[in-house]
Amino acid sequence: MALDSAGGTSLLLGREDVPPVHEENAAGRSPYLLTSDHYGLLIPKCLGDLGLPESEWARHIAWDIGIAGVAEALSKQLGAHLIAQRYSRLVIDCNRPPAAPSSIPRISEATAIPGNQGLAPEAAEARRMAIFDPYHRRIAEVIDRRNAAGMPTVLVALHSFTPVYAGIARPWHIGTLYHRDTRLPPLLLKCFRAEAGLVVGDNEPYAVSDDTDYTIPVHGEARGLMNSGVEIRQDLIAEAAGQQQWADRLARILAEAEATLRAQQLLPAQSAYR
Ligand SMILES: [Zn+2]
Repeated sequence: MALDSAGGTSLLLGREDVPPVHEENAAGRSPYLLTSDHYGLLIPKCLGDLGLPESEWARHIAWDIGIAGVAEALSKQLGAHLIAQRYSRLVIDCNRPPAAPSSIPRISEATAIPGNQGLAPEAAEARRMAIFDPYHRRIAEVIDRRNAAGMPTVLVALHSFTPVYAGIARPWHIGTLYHRDTRLPPLLLKCFRAEAGLVVGDNEPYAVSDDTDYTIPVHGEARGLMNSGVEIRQDLIAEAAGQQQWADRLARILAEAEATLRAQQLLPAQSAYR
């Protein structure tokens, strides 16, 4: 199959489709690099609606409700580079290894995805090359460029989670998700727990693993970056006001964490690269 993956165009994405990678604040000088794997709800035109009724597209299975607004506001407040992916996780999940069965889910929670049944290997490959690859290539390039410029990178992967999963209510307002990094996650947990009235998940509602995640293991852990996922409960950020509120809160907490990391010399003094 002749796919021009280098140019970000392919047989899957036509002229009327937008590129998968969305960026804010690419020149931002913050040590934080923000990613949003489940930012978008778009579907390539040629895939129609994947056979799902509109009611399913509004649900959490298709994207991380509310996180786009939080991510954009946070990027602006911190002066941090945000790299986000515009297509629905039902087209291809950018936080799953492409070989994982959940990469292009045939079923999500209890909903079968008709357009993902019996997919030929070439069709799965086309989704990877058109959407997954350019997104992750861009994250890798940006980290390379920052390293070359002597600019530190702390990777924060932004997500949101549904308040009820498989009939069980989730009590946490926010959670950190991590695996191998022992520097940033405990610091973030400490900051979150210092906030009045916040129910904080420590690797809840999910934990990061090499089999079920991609962004943190590949771009964070394998490259030795400090990193953590941050998951916010969707009912808190469904509207613009909540998104702004949580972006304000996260901006304050991440700034505090940054100051602590500098004091601990886990980040260089500001004058070293600003
Ligand atoms: Zn997510």
